[in-house]
Amino acid sequence: MTMLIVQKYGGTSVADAGCIMRVAERIVQSHRAGHKMVVVLSAQGDTTDILTAKAREIAPDPSKRELDMLLVTGEQQAVALMAMAIHKLGAPALSMNAVQVGIEATSLYGNARIRRIRPERITRALELNSIVIVAGFQGVNRYGDMTTLGRGASDTTAVALAAVLGADVCEIYSDVSGIFTADPRIVPVARKLPCISYDEMLELASMGAQVLHNRAVEMAKRHRVKLVLRSSSRFDDEGTEIREESTMEKLLFSGLAVDRDVARISVMGLVDRPGLAYHVFSLLAKEKISVDIILQTAGNGQTKDISFTVAHEHLDAALKVLETNREQIGFDMTTYDTQVAKLSVIGAGMTTNYGVASSMFEALYDCGVNIHLISSSEIKITVLIDENAADRAARAIHEKFTQLMQD
Ligand code: ASP
Ligand code: MG
Repeated sequence: MTMLIVQKYGGTSVADAGCIMRVAERIVQSHRAGHKMVVVLSAQGDTTDILTAKAREIAPDPSKRELDMLLVTGEQQAVALMAMAIHKLGAPALSMNAVQVGIEATSLYGNARIRRIRPERITRALELNSIVIVAGFQGVNRYGDMTTLGRGASDTTAVALAAVLGADVCEIYSDVSGIFTADPRIVPVARKLPCISYDEMLELASMGAQVLHNRAVEMAKRHRVKLVLRSSSRFDDEGTEIREESTMEKLLFSGLAVDRDVARISVMGLVDRPGLAYHVFSLLAKEKISVDIILQTAGNGQTKDISFTVAHEHLDAALKVLETNREQIGFDMTTYDTQVAKLSVIGAGMTTNYGVASSMFEALYDCGVNIHLISSSEIKITVLIDENAADRAARAIHEKFTQLMQD
């Protein structure tokens, strides 16, 4: 059966000439099997970082327009080289940048969103039996300028193209061969999942399992794009499919993620009156600081404490804005802790399944790990614990849930 396949290869998969030739062979193989092929590439290796560093050598805060002008060249190099490699193998290929394809994006330099894609030129090339190689991570804004779509956004380019072209599948190749029940470096018995739902994947990705650009998963969900994560070093390995529902019955546990990029802040002795949470969090929102787990104590009738977590990079700014507004908000003091980690268990029907949370807490209790904060949603339970206990806790919880699933 002839299929329309969108494939995306990350930077490490096209890092040098040897890698490019290997990937080219893979693409040509699928093309010879009769499939229509659209391939999205990232810049080679660390190119984007290197280009950013070059710009900073000239100016610490370069013009955002010019920075995007520079960064888009990384992906353009990759696609041109790939087209040459495919030609060498005797197959037809055409590389295109965002202007040539017609990837219209919002005007925010450095973090633009895709508004729409005009697929006509790609469709025509496919009809002429050409393989189409598209530069990821870039768009054109309404002024006709190139913009970039945010770090890691080549995944999003691939999914957007798959949606617009109505592709049968969008395969994302990288050095991560799929989604595991936990990071195998921490939990050696972790298993690769054959499939996972969009929602579970979104939770895993935002929790630090950095395999796929979150906006790519959101877009795949919205447009029902069948996404498959595969290994770019072992092409024949089965990957992980991301789709609507992962199983007929609701699974209890699909994975566990540890996020170490987190700090806890506590605001102590807040005067207990309506609007105190609003005051604290609106100030942080104004500074564009996103907070995650939030806990407010019941208090003693006069004062309350609020604790929450932020990413490390936002810690200083968050403490500063709170301190500056101490009088106005009305609190005693702030404390913080950076030696903490967030550990989340993700799975469909987490909180509707009786006993799931208590099993997690039991596993933590059994290995003597103290819980600082807890939060839960329909498909996720998160605890904040000491960072140096994270690995031990991950192994204990993984084991507990593996047992639960076998019962
Ligand atoms: N080259 C860009 C980056 O490094 C986009 C991508 O790789 O997806 O962020
Ligand atoms: Mg990536």
